[in-house]
Amino acid sequence: PLILGIESSCDETGVGIVRGNELLANTVSSSMDQHVRFGGVIPEIAARAHLETMIPTLRQALDTAGVELDDIDALAVTSGPGLSGALMVGVAAAKALAVATGKPLYAINHLVAHVGVGVLDGGELPSDLGALLVSGGHTEILKVRELTSDVELVGQTIDDAAGEAYDKVARLLGLGYPGGPAIDRIAREGNGKAIRFPRGLSLPKFVGTAEAPGKHRYDFSFSGLKTAVARSVEQYQAKGLDVPVADIAASFQEAVVDVVTKKAVMACTEHGLSTLLLGGGVAANSRLRELLAARCASAGITLRVPKPSLCTDNGAMIAALASRVVSAGVAPTGVGFATDPGQPVTQISLPAA
Ligand code: ATP
Ligand code: MG
Ligand code: FE
Repeated sequence: PLILGIESSCDETGVGIVRGNELLANTVSSSMDQHVRFGGVIPEIAARAHLETMIPTLRQALDTAGVELDDIDALAVTSGPGLSGALMVGVAAAKALAVATGKPLYAINHLVAHVGVGVLDGGELPSDLGALLVSGGHTEILKVRELTSDVELVGQTIDDAAGEAYDKVARLLGLGYPGGPAIDRIAREGNGKAIRFPRGLSLPKFVGTAEAPGKHRYDFSFSGLKTAVARSVEQYQAKGLDVPVADIAASFQEAVVDVVTKKAVMACTEHGLSTLLLGGGVAANSRLRELLAARCASAGITLRVPKPSLCTDNGAMIAALASRVVSAGVAPTGVGFATDPGQPVTQISLPAA
């Protein structure tokens, strides 16, 4: 079936069109430019931008795919998790389309869609799949036995998301926003071993052992790391020394990437998962890709990293997961649902209201 997916959970307005595992269109419009001067995504501004760009993005996706609304078999939209006001714009647009065309509508989980998008780059996903999602709003390890019915949250951040940590540390170092690409770039000129920053939730009391797992064995924490970077910057300034920005950036990045890759690989090994899929905006990070590839290889885990345009927020991932949900024979959600800013990963598509 031909599926059209709409995404508006954060700062990207996305409309994607897929047929099975085939990607026909993936049009994205980002309001990032409007958030730069605030140093972070402002929910009200993001929602307003979705309102402006939704119809042009839809039009462009249909044109790119060479199809018309009439040709679409089912509609899908992100219902959560995400920013409440931003989600509402996509959901309202999708409901309007569903009512006007009479086509079935599916309310789709944004996080599970970051995994489902894998079918568009590399084909079918195995039933012993792990996923590491790292973005501005998320840091999660998932166990995915079946995309449409069996997804489990294995670990998550207890404070900041990985991308959020990059953004906050970049600000401390005067590198601007968004911080991820800036730190990635300048870290190449620095020494990642210059300063040993803390690896959050890596102490034995949190991690435990495979037999007796600690409460936070697969969880993450980045707020202590951010504070440690701030202290380090202050110490150089207090002594009247130049702040070694490249070394601090590289050492910060090493701390994030070390703990994220270690825990993801450990989760796969201990849960018997043969394949790990990487998703989210931080998947663009060069050091993360390098270390994750190396650690997956030594552990005998197959690593799948979809192309960057499918890792960041987009509509094709919503269409791709919905395509699976439709094929599995799940009933459409209809138009009686609300957004769920905290939608759990176990809620893959919302049931009919
Ligand atoms: P969500 O969390 O809902 O997926 P988001 O808009 O916060 O939404 P993305 O758009 O997927 O997330 O990713 C943006 C984040 O990725 C930002 O925090 C940015 O700093 C980070 N990022 C982008 N490129 C890199 C990079 N090369 N290295 C590290 N972080 C990066
Ligand atoms: Mg974004
Ligand atoms: Fe996302």
